[in-house]
Amino acid sequence: MKRLCLFWGIFCMAFAAQPARAGSSGGGVEILDMAMLFDGKIGEQAADMAKMSKEGAADIHMVSFFLVPEGNPPFDKISLYEDKYRRLRDALGGADCKTGIILQATLGHGFELEVPHPFQKMISREDGREWRMKNIVCPLDENFIKYLRECVRRAAALKPAVMMVDDDFRALGGRNGCLCPLHLAKIKRDSGYDLTREQLKKHLAGNSELDRKISEAAMRAVSDSLIDLAKIIRAEIDAVDPSIPCYMCGSLEDMAHDGQIARELAGKGRESVLRIGNARYWNPKYRDLYLTSRALALQKAMARPDRVYAEIDTFPRNRYFTSARTLHAGLVVSVLEGASGAKYWPNRFPDYEPASGAEYKKVLAENRGMYDELCRLMKGAEPCGVADIMIAKPKDLRNYNWPLVKDPAFWTHITGVMGLPVSFVEISELDGPCFLRGSAAKALGDAQIKKILSLGCVLDGEAAVEICRRGMGGLIGVKAAPWDRSLKISRERFSEGMGKIAGVVCEPPSNPVKIEPLSDKTEVMSEFIHLPYTYGDKKFAERLAAASTYFENPLGGKVAVFASRPEGPNHLNESRKAQYAEILNRLAPGGIWYDGDAEAYLKNLKLKDGSELVVLANVGLDPITPLAFKSARKFSRAQMLGGDGAWRDAEFSQSADGKISVAGRAEIYMPVALRFFE
Ligand SMILES: [Zn+2]
Repeated sequence: MKRLCLFWGIFCMAFAAQPARAGSSGGGVEILDMAMLFDGKIGEQAADMAKMSKEGAADIHMVSFFLVPEGNPPFDKISLYEDKYRRLRDALGGADCKTGIILQATLGHGFELEVPHPFQKMISREDGREWRMKNIVCPLDENFIKYLRECVRRAAALKPAVMMVDDDFRALGGRNGCLCPLHLAKIKRDSGYDLTREQLKKHLAGNSELDRKISEAAMRAVSDSLIDLAKIIRAEIDAVDPSIPCYMCGSLEDMAHDGQIARELAGKGRESVLRIGNARYWNPKYRDLYLTSRALALQKAMARPDRVYAEIDTFPRNRYFTSARTLHAGLVVSVLEGASGAKYWPNRFPDYEPASGAEYKKVLAENRGMYDELCRLMKGAEPCGVADIMIAKPKDLRNYNWPLVKDPAFWTHITGVMGLPVSFVEISELDGPCFLRGSAAKALGDAQIKKILSLGCVLDGEAAVEICRRGMGGLIGVKAAPWDRSLKISRERFSEGMGKIAGVVCEPPSNPVKIEPLSDKTEVMSEFIHLPYTYGDKKFAERLAAASTYFENPLGGKVAVFASRPEGPNHLNESRKAQYAEILNRLAPGGIWYDGDAEAYLKNLKLKDGSELVVLANVGLDPITPLAFKSARKFSRAQMLGGDGAWRDAEFSQSADGKISVAGRAEIYMPVALRFFE
């Protein structure tokens, strides 16, 4: 440790302060570019950063200080980073280009290091995880804290525009907690439970009241160990310069404490900034863009930072793994869920390979105006359509499988590829109709369910069964019960009152339930039928049961029930889409949706000036042209948003049946933003 101290004083006052708050002027986004500096290439890197700043591909260039301790005693890594950072600033000279520092791998990412360190390693609650947790430091180790204090102080002394703690600063994601001797001692100290790791593991898996209390104490100890270290990091920055902002880079499974960590790091009187985890990385399928927006909305609801930033990462930072358009589309859908910034790694890590990042930088620069304009428009905008509700319960040491982030708790894997309006709302903020799945219903209390039923909702079969089990079947208009599996469903047939789709049949569901209307006030929208032979004529059909219903309850809530799960061809077909549109018009009138059969993600928001914002992202391989929408509302004109942030009049028509056509072409992952005016 002494070796480190020698360098510290010398560099303390070597740098002039940069502006304390960069980017996002005028309510737009703030984009953070992450870079590792390479000896011999710093001049080229500085020129690239200055170009990126000028073109809008980044607002702050965050230089990686990869700090995980290595060696015994640890090598003086920080002096190497200090030197390169200083040379970068010299190379930038008077360029209008802000630089920051990302404290990367403070605790360690968990991969093999070249040399081990002498500190206490994190010990998971889970056995067999050691291969994923190599050399991760426990945040309670006093000697490590000394090491980190000095690193932070020396980094702050370089007067970066912003500092950020990278996302290895976590205890649950990929780790499942730390049950090392230091943490066990902390639990004993804080809560009085004197336990071995094996004993604690049993309590974490048990269901008694004592098990729950001990689990809470253990979770608190794990969270507090990170939060306390965040306070130490902030104190070290403050000791140098309290005006330096510090952001947090969080991860999905650590939202239990990442909001608090972001607030501690931000410092007094400054907005907390949390980058959440929603990158697409290497993902060779594209239709699941809804996961990117959902992950952001959900983590924002769990951590509630003042500002949330998207993760538009590219690991391992070249286009053999991640296309540039995935950054663009990911950022657009994130901004539409409230992101006001993004962090990305367009640069290679092992060495200087500038061609690998060129397209990433280009796509962001070309569309920078769009991100800023959408970000500004989001203030005061109201999402349209039926919302997917989010239960913002973060992962902890007990809820291990954590189902509430996956498709079975949501409907967006259907609406988000059918081009129906997607929106998310946290349950406590719900003020309109929503989709409700069985797995989500089971996690809610009776009062919450009653509220949902009064506001209007679309239920899947399992939610209907759960609501009936709780004695509220009268509010959904049907009695719901498990399906008798001996009864074979051949098809689902749309009912006579369903207009153009009346009599059309589609595939049967894989997971039906039995619903029975309670009275003729319940409209049957479709029925399950049995056919006497495969692909038999519809005229031989035998009716089995109602398959979907609509009911307006005494609380004023409009309730659609599906006796199925939203999955497979039973829900993804042309006639079902027409039924969804009908339900949308009844529950949330006035919405706009994509009127075609390509895979599309659509967001519809009502803007403060009364116009309707529609962002259509093509998530399939076939270009969409012209741009086809439908709405029960009448519009007179439309505008299209350019990548430069300017709105231009678009060629537009709307027919008497509500079909809208706009001249244009939506390529895969190149979202088109339109504004419709009455
Ligand atoms: Zn520990």
